[in-house]
Amino acid sequence: MLQIRFVALLSLLFFVLVPVCQAVAAELVVYSSRKEQLLKPLFDAYTKETGTEISFVTGKIDALLKQLKEEGRESPADLLLTSDAGNLWHASMQGLLQPIRSKVLVKNIPEHLYDPQRRWFGLSLRARTIVYSTERVNRNDLSTYEALGDPKWNKRLLLRTSNKVYNKSLVAMFIAEEGEEKAEQLVKSWVDNLAADPLAKDSQVMDAIVDGQGDIGIVNTYYFGHLMRENPNLKLALFWPNQESTGVHVNVSGGGVLRSAKHRKEAVKFLEWLSSEKAQNLYADVVLEYPVNPRVQASKEVAAWGDFNQNKLNLSKAGELQTAATRLMERVGYN
Ligand code: FE
Repeated sequence: MLQIRFVALLSLLFFVLVPVCQAVAAELVVYSSRKEQLLKPLFDAYTKETGTEISFVTGKIDALLKQLKEEGRESPADLLLTSDAGNLWHASMQGLLQPIRSKVLVKNIPEHLYDPQRRWFGLSLRARTIVYSTERVNRNDLSTYEALGDPKWNKRLLLRTSNKVYNKSLVAMFIAEEGEEKAEQLVKSWVDNLAADPLAKDSQVMDAIVDGQGDIGIVNTYYFGHLMRENPNLKLALFWPNQESTGVHVNVSGGGVLRSAKHRKEAVKFLEWLSSEKAQNLYADVVLEYPVNPRVQASKEVAAWGDFNQNKLNLSKAGELQTAATRLMERVGYN
């Protein structure tokens, strides 16, 4: 009898204690498409400073969005972190993110880098810019994105595939800026100048330039940073186009608070902390991106690529015009 009571007591304790322990252990749950090694230093710093424990799940963005939809209101997730405004916009359109009122976020982040409805905020910035062979290209011959369609670059241009969200967002921003017709002419002129079929990754675009398959391409800045960190002697350099006009195209990695959030206040606090000077320094240094917070300087390594004027169109356009961009790229045969 006593034994049965003891077992009953134990199982009662188990059911009472286990959920409590879980709740204490995880005060904030993050779903992220960014890699663990990029996130961990930030999470650890936040836990050290505030005592708030963070647990996280990482995966591809499509899989995470699918999981969030399936979990619905029962999802344990408080925050979504991902790269590219196109992805953030997509999450917000699926009704997964809630609007945030935060004076801190609005003060720390420039207006073109967050959702006008404030469901997502950019937390680090990357430019999608020109990379070229310093052996075969004279820097003085470079000027704009549009000029990459000039006959002088025939069979010399390398691009990543059009199905990557980075390129969809880039083309969407051209549509927002110049209208669909001009954007189509621009992208078609690039396709006409391709030296090879579009490549699967930004890093492959740079490898192909090094190998001499082409002379010039378009990549995100942090890929250049990581490649040059490994091989500082590569004959590659970045160029900032459209400095007299519309500016370099930028995008963000960022985040938003999920509708399912059980720790809403904590989640907002964490986002605010990510936009703070301390976290921005840490974030930008680890990922080789630019801080979004204008009061924070880029790391030495990144600052060495030089200053540039950036395009100030609101990045929500990258989402809104994503479908139009995809169709446009199909029409001109950009695969
Ligand atoms: Fe990337």
